[in-house]
Amino acid sequence: MIKPGDVISYLEMCTEEGVNLQRGMNYNLLGNISVILMSLRPNAPYSDKIEEEGRILIYEGHDINKTQDTPIPKLVDQQMKNPSGTLSQNGLFYKAAQNYQKGKRAAAAVRVYEKLYRGIWVYNGIFKLIDAWQEKADDRKVFRFKLELIEEIPDRIRNRQPEPILEHNRMIPPSVKLEVWKRDKGKCVLCGSTYNLHFDHIIPFSKGGSSLVAENIQLLCARHNISKRDKIE
Ligand SMILES: [Zn+2]
Repeated sequence: MIKPGDVISYLEMCTEEGVNLQRGMNYNLLGNISVILMSLRPNAPYSDKIEEEGRILIYEGHDINKTQDTPIPKLVDQQMKNPSGTLSQNGLFYKAAQNYQKGKRAAAAVRVYEKLYRGIWVYNGIFKLIDAWQEKADDRKVFRFKLELIEEIPDRIRNRQPEPILEHNRMIPPSVKLEVWKRDKGKCVLCGSTYNLHFDHIIPFSKGGSSLVAENIQLLCARHNISKRDKIE
């Protein structure tokens, strides 16, 4: 069971979802949950943004696959449909957001993972998909998806996989994660362990601590994260 802020490997991420995650957008996987992978590293292929103190994620849709006819997908509009006519991942997420906007269905639940370095991922938590639109960016059309961090896990997901939200955490911006990772050298600040690491809020968000500054975030191993939590509660 993983918690928001946990550092995991690619393999652990796939094990958690029960599938081999090959692409960035995965609509409706096992147990009615969708998964998106994000990266805000400087050379990342898509421009994802974090707003409202880490409560809102604006996620960019994905390009078509590179083919002989489209050697540079970045020059072509992002597509609602696959060449076969079925909805693309953009289309599936877009339709779900539209249906939510029209009151036809509950917001889709989306688990968000973020790539920190090659092979190193961070789990950012469960979000709900609340809006989607298309816009012009560099002379082509791209999709944008608006996701909001869920404070309380809906029953339909809780049944599948209990996930404690003990501190109402906010998503830590990638730049802050990278700064902390470098500063703490990828180790628990208390014991130096490099296993089961977690981005810990030194002062919890619920007690006024910020997610936005590296000074309030540290790396702890699972053991020290749990012992710290026991002291706080
Ligand atoms: Zn430790």
